[in-house]
Amino acid sequence: MGENQNVYELLATHLDRLPSGFPRTPTGVELRILQRLFTPQEASLALSLSLRPETPEQIAKRTGQNPEALAPQLEAMSRRGLIFRIRKGDEPRYMAAQFVIGIWEYHVNDLRPELIQDMNEYLPYFFEKINRLKTPQLRTIPISKAISVEQAVMPYEQAHHIILEQEKILVAPCICRREHQMVGEGCDKPMESCLVFGTGAEYYEENGLGRFISQGEALNILENAERSGLVLQPSNAQKVINICTCCGCCCQILKNLKKLPDPAHYVASNYFASIDADACTLCGTCVSRCQMDAVELLEKAASVLPERCIGCGLCVSTCPEEAIHLRLKPDEERTTPPAHFLETYKRIAKERIARMRQADGRTDLKTH
Ligand code: SF4
Ligand code: SF4
Ligand code: SF4
Repeated sequence: MGENQNVYELLATHLDRLPSGFPRTPTGVELRILQRLFTPQEASLALSLSLRPETPEQIAKRTGQNPEALAPQLEAMSRRGLIFRIRKGDEPRYMAAQFVIGIWEYHVNDLRPELIQDMNEYLPYFFEKINRLKTPQLRTIPISKAISVEQAVMPYEQAHHIILEQEKILVAPCICRREHQMVGEGCDKPMESCLVFGTGAEYYEENGLGRFISQGEALNILENAERSGLVLQPSNAQKVINICTCCGCCCQILKNLKKLPDPAHYVASNYFASIDADACTLCGTCVSRCQMDAVELLEKAASVLPERCIGCGLCVSTCPEEAIHLRLKPDEERTTPPAHFLETYKRIAKERIARMRQADGRTDLKTH
């Protein structure tokens, strides 16, 4: 194995040890992807970063390098979406970026057909391995119009509330829809639709991946998402760091979940839809609104398949007979998201470790 090939092997292992993972495939497509994104020097430098933010001086000291030479390399890599950067005042700190959600999304403005082709080979494999954990990276919350006034809904499940809590909001293009469109597939749903908050918003803005917007514009984007039939998927924590607005045809998460017979078991959602058969006139609107093929038209009324329903509420707001209602799942099926996203990562890492122990005895994941 050549020296350069070896550094990509090491990087693949390094990324797989981070909580959200980078599973290896029998075809090795993941190494091809890393070669398209990182030079051998960048791959080597990425190996020395963890999820702990550090100054160039700290990284240089730890790795025996010259801090003056290292600082511009770290900055350039963070600008190219290969590692993450936060700023304390004017002082930058660098840390590893996970692959998904992370490095892949940071390449929304740098997509090439060969990379898209490799990613479309890789992502189904990735989600097969990672997506079916008890704690997903994103949860599903209902659109506002699907929540009735009598329902008590937690603040982290109310999209409006999440927006009104934010000081810095950025909107970025949707990489899933963009990559599908670039290869002649995909849909005509809104492109500018990924909302990113706080530190992530600063990173996206500095890297030219999106633009800052007001709370008012963010609320308009949510309304447009609701009209367009997009599922709201915020980060799976009570302190929300982003909201994705997703379609079942392009979103790599929903698309892969949709292939399963029981997607409801793999999403973090506290709701499900139910239909009042007496009020239903079989108009079929709910069937076309549902991104998960969770509604079927029976002889007398439409009916929701509970194992497919992810509680997004898209069918509720457009039923002309007001025959559909969102209901809270029973206590034992509800989930409370971790307080902070770091806790989410810890849970994901623990679940992956437990799964690997069962499969092949691996215990080498890092949670920080
Ligand atoms: S997860 Fe959803 S919003 Fe985010 S990039 Fe994919 S489809 Fe777009
Ligand atoms: S949208 Fe309402 S009326 Fe139309 S099929 Fe669905 S439940 Fe029935
Ligand atoms: S039936 Fe479909 S559209 Fe309605 S809440 Fe369930 S997943 Fe969403």
